Amino acid sequence: MEKKKLVIIGSGPAAHTAAIYAARANLSPLLYEGFMSGPSGGQLMTTTEVENFPGFPEGITGPALMENFRAQSVRFGTVILTEDVKSVDLSKRPYHIRGTKTEVLAESIIISTGATAKRLDIEGAGDGEFWQKGVTACAVCDGAAPIFRNKELFVIGGGDSAVEEAIFLTKYGSKVFIVHRRDELRASKIMAERALKHPKIEILWNSAIEKISGDQVVKKVLVKNLVDGKTEEKEAAGVFFAIGHQPNTGFLEGQLETNDVGYIVVKKGSTQTSVEGVFAAGDVQDPTYRQAITAAGTGCMAALDAERWLNEMGIE
Ligand code: NAP
Repeated sequence: MEKKKLVIIGSGPAAHTAAIYAARANLSPLLYEGFMSGPSGGQLMTTTEVENFPGFPEGITGPALMENFRAQSVRFGTVILTEDVKSVDLSKRPYHIRGTKTEVLAESIIISTGATAKRLDIEGAGDGEFWQKGVTACAVCDGAAPIFRNKELFVIGGGDSAVEEAIFLTKYGSKVFIVHRRDELRASKIMAERALKHPKIEILWNSAIEKISGDQVVKKVLVKNLVDGKTEEKEAAGVFFAIGHQPNTGFLEGQLETNDVGYIVVKKGSTQTSVEGVFAAGDVQDPTYRQAITAAGTGCMAALDAERWLNEMGIE
């Protein structure tokens, strides 16, 4: 079986930044970019305009930015495999990585598999029902679609994402309801104030959507008040889940230490995980910032950490 000095798992800003640095340090990285596990390029592939990535004063689309990242990785010699990693064995070195088509041994690994927006199991929200026909987990990706124009839209959640998405959606919808299960927002004070003051946003406190219905697309939601149990049917064109993200760590089968909500734990100020020679970068280890630029930054850190570790171990 082929043995590599460094294998990178992922295809977003963290993975490709790690690959660029590692390739330029002559570590000949092999990168598994995934196939069925989500869009290669990560969450930026489902984003429209990216206006806060430094270096692009006019903005750039998410897919164009990721194409640049990938081209830069390839330019310096990163070998990219378009397949998913099914499992890894971190019990002994070199670590054994099993992809859907290939198997490889790795002296060191950088895990940058990102996170996926969580969905709720509401009647009408599933695949084959109204998922992607008005129900989505990314307002920024889908909010500009014609079906949402001048219609009543619903965002589920009470955190910063919910508020941010609701504010974003006011550009398109006639009114945006935030449906929150409690009587207080989790969002930061400044964000919460923006939502509370916004003339097009109404917060439905202590509430949950019980059912989503329509014809070809979403037309109605059934909102339940969780305190008195009363339900009310409301006109709706869109339901946007903003209830947080789930880090993509299933293939690790618990071999790395994670926090209580599943994010990989790294040593403070480093990308070192609980297993020697295994590093984590990007959203898979970051419940806080979750930005393309911070993911890229930790990707760079992971490549430098891996390079130093390989040197210390005398692995040529
Ligand atoms: P979050 O802070 O974890 O909030 C998730 C929200 O969804 C909470 O209000 C939670 O309700 C609700 N929720 C979770 N599971 C639910 C369920 N099963 N049913 C109904 N509601 C449910 O996630 P986030 O808003 O995505 O933010 C994640 C991190 O990114 C945070 O640190 C946030 O500050 C940061 N962020 C920052 C910005 C910004 O500053 N511009 C923007 C986006 C995100 P409860 O409140 O009842 O738990």
